[in-house]
Amino acid sequence: MDCTKCDREAVMHAAYSGAHLCERHLFESVERRVRRRIREDDMLPDDATPEDPETWVIGLSGGKDSVVLTDIIEETFAEDPRVELVALTIHEGIEGYRDESLAACEQLTADRDVRHEVVTYADEFDVEMDDVVEDDPMDMAACAYCGVFRRDLLAKYAEAYDADKLLTGHNLDDEAETALMNILEGNVEQVAKHFDASLGPFDERTPKDEMIPRAKPLRDVPEKEVALYAQLRDLPVHMEECPHSSEAFRGEIQDLLLKLEENHPGTRHSIMAGYEELAGLAADQYSDEDADVGECEECGAPTTRDRCRKCALVEAVNAV
Ligand code: SF4
Ligand code: ZN
Repeated sequence: MDCTKCDREAVMHAAYSGAHLCERHLFESVERRVRRRIREDDMLPDDATPEDPETWVIGLSGGKDSVVLTDIIEETFAEDPRVELVALTIHEGIEGYRDESLAACEQLTADRDVRHEVVTYADEFDVEMDDVVEDDPMDMAACAYCGVFRRDLLAKYAEAYDADKLLTGHNLDDEAETALMNILEGNVEQVAKHFDASLGPFDERTPKDEMIPRAKPLRDVPEKEVALYAQLRDLPVHMEECPHSSEAFRGEIQDLLLKLEENHPGTRHSIMAGYEELAGLAADQYSDEDADVGECEECGAPTTRDRCRKCALVEAVNAV
């Protein structure tokens, strides 16, 4: 089959748009969608200048999504000194898994000459995910601990590096799954947080003006296209799954979405279009005035209680 845009051979078919794309036009199409997000989400303000650049921190795990995102953003701003990048890798203490993905992160950032920082649960919390899984003091899934710890460190270090934006590599499939999960769980408060705090602390609300804005510039690109992009560009990517991955419900939603997309191409896009509209309406109902946000008495992170969720979990884990 030929490419819809030229006469080279197609490497993929996007059923949702009807397009068959060759390698070159796949690259163009993925990059165009990322750059459009940067533009449409107003990620680069008018007052950013080479003398006073923006700092963007990218959460870089070494998986295909964050590697592709870092690569495209670096390429986009390579000649544009208005943006300075910092790639931030969180090491959870998962043997055999994170060490290999760290190697992918190091290769990418060395090749592209991007500043790379690594922070570990061990240094920050005296915690390793391998031990958390073993002890499990709160009787929860591994990802329930890990997600709280990761979000805390992304926010903490984005602030430490004086970031103007915190970028993550969520793709279209991730976003559509999360949207469906929130709806199926009836979690309207989480829907309301979609635009301003989808990476904020799990169970609390952070006032908008104290938060470093989050951005997900890959969110229009389906997972399969991200994977193909990484493979054809020969990017250093760590493909294995985390051995503690335990989001059973997400797995079910993933299967459901794949099936829906196959039978009704475009479902993911329409889910997100509807979800964003709903999120806008829901956000009006959950304005920041309702939330009584103070500071955690231990770490100073914003929280609606005396002590934040992360500090409670760290104490529980370390008490075992
Ligand atoms: Fe942590 Fe779960 Fe991700 Fe593994 S899959 S790194 S446990 S959040
Ligand atoms: Zn705290």
